[in-house]
Amino acid sequence: MSEAAVVEKVRNVTEHTSEEVEKVKNWINTEEYKEKNFAREALVVNPAHACQPLGAQMVASGFEGSLPFVHGSQGCASYFRSTFTRHFREPSAATCDAMTEDGAVFGGQNNLFEGLENAYSIYKPKMIPVYTTCMPEVIGDDLTAFIRNAKNDGRIPEDLPTPYANTPSFNGTHLHGYDSMIKAVLQNLTTDQKVEDKCTGKLNIIPGFDGNVGNLREYKRICDMMDIPYTMLADISDVFDSGCDGEYKMYPGGTKLEDAADSINAKATISMQKYSTTSTMKWVGREFSGASEILPMPFGIKKTDDLLLKLAELFGKEIPAELKAERARAVDAMTDAHQYIHGKKFAIFGDPDYVIGIVTFLLEMGARPWHVLVSRATKKFQKEMDALLASSMYGEGCTCYVNKDLWHMRSLLMTDPVEGIIGDTHGKWAARDAKIPLFRVGFPIIDRVNLHRTPVVGYNGAISLLSMIANKFLDITDETCEDQWFEMMR
Ligand code: SF4
Repeated sequence: MSEAAVVEKVRNVTEHTSEEVEKVKNWINTEEYKEKNFAREALVVNPAHACQPLGAQMVASGFEGSLPFVHGSQGCASYFRSTFTRHFREPSAATCDAMTEDGAVFGGQNNLFEGLENAYSIYKPKMIPVYTTCMPEVIGDDLTAFIRNAKNDGRIPEDLPTPYANTPSFNGTHLHGYDSMIKAVLQNLTTDQKVEDKCTGKLNIIPGFDGNVGNLREYKRICDMMDIPYTMLADISDVFDSGCDGEYKMYPGGTKLEDAADSINAKATISMQKYSTTSTMKWVGREFSGASEILPMPFGIKKTDDLLLKLAELFGKEIPAELKAERARAVDAMTDAHQYIHGKKFAIFGDPDYVIGIVTFLLEMGARPWHVLVSRATKKFQKEMDALLASSMYGEGCTCYVNKDLWHMRSLLMTDPVEGIIGDTHGKWAARDAKIPLFRVGFPIIDRVNLHRTPVVGYNGAISLLSMIANKFLDITDETCEDQWFEMMR
């Protein structure tokens, strides 16, 4: 049957005239509709966040020989894997105990037993981090008891590290899942590893939920340049950016388990994201030997300066000349591109740490972060963002919206337009409707290639970001200007 014939058979539940459709299409772009949209309470449309276990899976993927294990529904597990695979364009190894109706009624212990036994015997992992979907959380499965029973029952070896985290998605986001899982992995691996008066002299880096492997490589490159030995915890850079050498590797990289175990004796631990490591860093501060610091993501010049100065202070190092030269190049690039970005209005959405970083960068460029939107955030974040906007003359008139979704964002773009949107792929519908370019930064980016490999942090990240933005504006000028303004040079 031809496609046209199939389409002809479709009958709408409610018939609307083309005039009615047109009327509503125009109405949803109005101030009146925006007010109704912002009064909405019981419905979320296109939220700019993912669910808890997805964040847990990012952590579980980032350790050597680690096999992420989903206790719950197969469909949820497929969603996590496919999201990572689409974003990174790499295989995302993970398994699931596929709970169905009987598990929901009788509990999921049998599923977990069989799943762990099979996962261990087939895939020979060195660690199996377990995390949950909504279903076992709703029925109250007791992971502590189930995993203890699985070991007592001989399903998996007693000494196989099996950290676990409860990650109910009806409460929290991928950031909470990341936080719970990395804390669980560190608690498991560092048990009995603390040695009085021992200091490895190393820096632990917790990158936070960051889908940009280029950022992780940038942190490592900076440490190498400053001659600071480090352990990157939950290091997904090789796992989700392995080369194509003709040989499939089930476990391509990740933090070595012995390094993670010894991380408790490090000289210092830094987290690069406040909002995805909140409870982990509280625990690290209490339990780990060395200093612990939560730093903002180093977007732009000032925040990168802050990172380098903190590292220099913690490890008694000088800032190397190569990094000073990089800074100078970034300042030069910002000056060169300033005229194309200065004064332009932007809408920004995404995870709190990313959004803070992007807003900082825009303010440095003299741009106006006009609409700032985070779909799950605390009052603390709102306060922090308001203070950041108030710290610059370019933040005047800009507004931060928390606990709003991308359908709210669409209303903002339609009634109070901006010149650019910065966020992940989920923003493309609103961007298309509003005819505003979307600069893809964040997670997931599943409709463009390789952006997850280009760092957006550090001095080099600032150059990449401003080049992407300024060049797009110049493209638009060339594509849309009248003939007399079409210039060779811009
Ligand atoms: S929100 Fe719950 S049910 Fe939906 S994919 Fe996430 S874990 Fe599964």
